[in-house]
Amino acid sequence: MIVIKSAAEIDLMRKAGQVVARVLLECEKMAKPGVRTIDLDRLAEDVIRKAAAQPSFKGYRPPGMTPFPGSICTSINDEVVHGIPGPRRLEDGDILSIDVGACLGGFQGDAATTLAIGNVPRESLRLLDVTREALFRGIGKALDGLRLGDLSNAIGTFVEENGFSVVRDYVGHGIGQRMHEDPEIPNYGLPGTGPHLREGMTLAIEPMVNAGAYAARMLDNGWTVVTQDGSRSAHFEHTVAIGAQGPEILTVL
Ligand code: MG
Repeated sequence: MIVIKSAAEIDLMRKAGQVVARVLLECEKMAKPGVRTIDLDRLAEDVIRKAAAQPSFKGYRPPGMTPFPGSICTSINDEVVHGIPGPRRLEDGDILSIDVGACLGGFQGDAATTLAIGNVPRESLRLLDVTREALFRGIGKALDGLRLGDLSNAIGTFVEENGFSVVRDYVGHGIGQRMHEDPEIPNYGLPGTGPHLREGMTLAIEPMVNAGAYAARMLDNGWTVVTQDGSRSAHFEHTVAIGAQGPEILTVL
């Protein structure tokens, strides 16, 4: 069931979204060669708690899985999503995806970005540009009256036109009082299919794009997802509300 939010609820989600945006901004400033991903995690948790919010990912435990240990996910190079912060140091030429969730006033915000660390190969920069643009193509279809398949198709088509592939096994999601609500939001699909989009829906739209083939697998730690072929992967995400005047990105300052 897709939960429609009131104006007052969307206002609370805007506040949670601002915390998430601030975390990404602070992490972006700190993410340089030599920095450990655990340092970014500590910074993120600090920013979240100082805003009187809670890190939604910390201790998050889907059925049958171990609790996630970090406040953010840090996924480097061939890691698609759900990388665990630790002692690994960023190196010149890496790409780093940071995914953040925060809960404030009972509502969730969720966003991700992928950063170039130092001097990154041109093809990796293109991967980042295409994935970011794919997110905005999807957001542009978060309109009352369209269907979810229109949004998914806009993302997937743009990615494939640019020679990259969209991860199949992980998808975006509705978001509100819970981090993961209906509907699931695949990053590929057919126009004119799926649930009707309505004003008051709040969606976490998040293309995960591989430079090579779309297949992904999970590492033995039970969390980290990597590309099957070792190619690099990028991830951009915003929490978006469908408004009367069009889409509103909630995870901005
Ligand atoms: Mg998400």
